[in-house]
Amino acid sequence: MPTKKTTSKTAAATKAKTKAKPTATRKPHDELDLSVFPPGTVVKYSTLLCLACIFDLFTKQLGLSSRTASNEIKRYAPTLEELTARESARPFFKSAEKHPRCPYCDSAKLRHARLDTYRIEGGKATDATRRALVKSLPKTGEQFHIVEEKSSARAVFFGWLDALGRELDLEDDRAWMMAATRLYLERRDPKTDWAASFDGARQVRRSQRLEEGFEREGTRLFLAPALYNDVLLVQYLVSRSHRHGGRTFEGRLTLPELVRRMRYSGHLDAQGITERDQFDVLEKLVEHLAGGDSTLKLHYIVDRRDLLDKVKTVTARYAS
Ligand SMILES: [Zn+2]
Repeated sequence: MPTKKTTSKTAAATKAKTKAKPTATRKPHDELDLSVFPPGTVVKYSTLLCLACIFDLFTKQLGLSSRTASNEIKRYAPTLEELTARESARPFFKSAEKHPRCPYCDSAKLRHARLDTYRIEGGKATDATRRALVKSLPKTGEQFHIVEEKSSARAVFFGWLDALGRELDLEDDRAWMMAATRLYLERRDPKTDWAASFDGARQVRRSQRLEEGFEREGTRLFLAPALYNDVLLVQYLVSRSHRHGGRTFEGRLTLPELVRRMRYSGHLDAQGITERDQFDVLEKLVEHLAGGDSTLKLHYIVDRRDLLDKVKTVTARYAS
C-alpha cells in the first residue's frame, strides 16, 4: 500500500508540474500576471461593486426574489465604461482603504466585490501571449469575461498619455522626464531592452551622428534626432496642462517655441508637414506620434472571481 500511495502522489505531482503555467498555479484571486506582455501594452483598472446596493435594487425596487437576484448578479456583466471609468457611480466605487465602507449604503467590505479589468492592446507584439493567457484561464462559471473592442491608434495613444500623466510625479523634473522617455521608447519599440540601455544613464541627448536609433556613451544616452524630437513632444504633451507646463529636456517650451524647434531641425519636413499654423502643426505632429487613424483591437479580460465568491456570502446573509 505505501508503495502505491507514493506512486499516485508522484503521478499527481508530475501532473501538477506539467500543468503548471504561471497563471494556473496562483492561489485564487491573485492578480493575473501580465508582466509577460511588452511594457505599455496593458492597462489595469480596478473598481469595487457594492453587492448590498445592487441586491437592494433587485429585491426592493425590482421586486425580484433573493434567489433570482443572486442569479442575476452572478450573470451581471458591467459595461466597459463602468469597469474602466475614472469616476464611479452607484453601485460602483473606488477606495484605496483596507476596510472601505460603501459610500452609498455604508456596507462593509464583505459585501464589496472587486472587479479587475485588464486591457491588452492587440497586435503582433501581444497576440500570441494573449491567446496563451486566455487559454490558461478557468472556463467554468464565467470566472472571466473576455470582451473585445475596436479603437483608433490615436485614442489608445491618448489613453496611454493620460495614464502616464497621472502616474508620474511632475514636481520632480529630472525623474519624470527620464521615466517618460523610457516608457515612451518601450511603447514605441518593445523589442529593445530599454532597461539595459537606461541602466546608469543620467542624461538623454540629441545625437549629432546617428540617423536612426540610439547609442550609449558613458552615462549619456544619445537618440537620433527624429526619436529625440518625438520624446520632446511626449514630454510637452504630458506636462502642458500642469503648472509651468510644456517642460522638456530642452527646458520649458511654449507651443510656438516647440513648433519652431521642430521646423528648424527638419522634423516637419521629414514628416511632410507643410502647415504654417502652429495648432495645425501640433495636430499633425500628434497624429504622426499616435499612429494616425489606423484601427486596432483592444482585448479586455474581466476578473469576476471575487464577484462570484461574494455573491454567495451576500445571498446567504440575506436569506437568513
Ligand atoms: Zn452599497
